[in-house]
Amino acid sequence: MIVPVGRSEISSEPQGVSILGSTGSIGTQTLDVIAHLAPAFDVVALAASSNTALLSEQASRFNPQLVVCAMGNGESLSLPEDCLALEGAEGLLAAATHPDVDILVVATAGHSAIEPTIEAIKLGKTIALANKEALVCAADLILPLARQHGVTIHPIDSEHSAIWQSLDNGHSAVQRLILTASGGPFLDWPLDRIPSASVEDALGHPTWSMGAKITIDSATMMNKGLEVIEAHSLFGVPYEQIDVLIHPESIIHSMVAFADGSQIAQLSWPDMRLPIQYALTYPHHIASPCRQLDLAEAGALTFRAVEPERFPALDLARQCGIGGQTYPTVLSAADEVAVAAFLAERIGFGDIVPVVRSVIDAHQAIDINELGDVLAADAWSRELAEQLIARHDR
Ligand code: NDP
Ligand code: MG
Repeated sequence: MIVPVGRSEISSEPQGVSILGSTGSIGTQTLDVIAHLAPAFDVVALAASSNTALLSEQASRFNPQLVVCAMGNGESLSLPEDCLALEGAEGLLAAATHPDVDILVVATAGHSAIEPTIEAIKLGKTIALANKEALVCAADLILPLARQHGVTIHPIDSEHSAIWQSLDNGHSAVQRLILTASGGPFLDWPLDRIPSASVEDALGHPTWSMGAKITIDSATMMNKGLEVIEAHSLFGVPYEQIDVLIHPESIIHSMVAFADGSQIAQLSWPDMRLPIQYALTYPHHIASPCRQLDLAEAGALTFRAVEPERFPALDLARQCGIGGQTYPTVLSAADEVAVAAFLAERIGFGDIVPVVRSVIDAHQAIDINELGDVLAADAWSRELAEQLIARHDR
């Protein structure tokens, strides 16, 4: 349990924070928030894949005890004296389980943080979770462990943070969760133009600035599909009670409908630093670097139902969630491979979802009893997706 931290009641003992994925979009914004809240948090460890230049810069500013370059290349780090450098999977594990870490921010892209997250939960560390793969692929392992060790998972994803903030402390009967979606860059494109969209078109998100993978997932709406699966896991709400609503302005970040007919929503300008800060300071809303929302300036807030033929990834993901077992892992892994192939211009935008669907259709799902089950399904899915994509190369 995180010690409450208020701007005027900052704990005399700083909370130790480790950030997996510190050089990415969420990681850099987490460091912005921590700088703003100084001295409430002490950066204990920073980890990334290979961006040694930015890791070195972050290390000189935040003075961590440990810096991890997961993909090697650690020799080109330039670190303060006394800062230990590690590499590889062991490095990520060390960053997650360091004895001085109270809060682990999981902000890597991909599945490399699943095992470190599991090990941090076993040590009772609070998890501030941005990474989607951890719960999409391994909720069956992570959630029982979190319950067993009394660990709370603080969602960073804006939709899940909004639902978390709207849930009314669990005292009320929830009727539905309503996840909002901006609709991405292709919301108003003619349907027949979308399959030939370029990488530049798909990276042009109208309201959020994010890493490349999640931006493409927002254009297909696979991102919302993964979020539906995550919401089901995090909040224990059945799939038939989770809706998606298009809200192009991205001001309402999601809402909860209660049995009496009331709906409670969380609103703010789209700025990930807000849900990141709340995941660090929960249960306190305290002064942040974010601009106050002005609804007169925002003007109209509009809503639309999702057109299933425009965003087939959404239903595909929902079906994988309902299927459970290894289906969500296979979905997530095939999508990662297909998105990387699209970004490398090996396949078209319109090929992403068909590649993922073909992999899912060929999958024989099994229950997840251990991490090896997730990793095996992940590897199987990646290999088949690669084979299907290789046909486009010829
Ligand atoms: P980015 O691509 O911007 O950043 C990814 C980070 O993870 C980088 O620091 C990268 O290091 C690091 N990384 C990648 N692979 C590894 C690895 N094998 N080991 C260690 N570190 C690794 O992603 P985002 O910040 O956009 O997203 C991170 C996660 O948060 C994703 O799961 C995404 O779905 C989720 N999320 C993101 C949101 C956003 O607004 N960006 C919103 C909600 C959720 P390097 O720089 O060295 O490559
Ligand atoms: Mg989101």
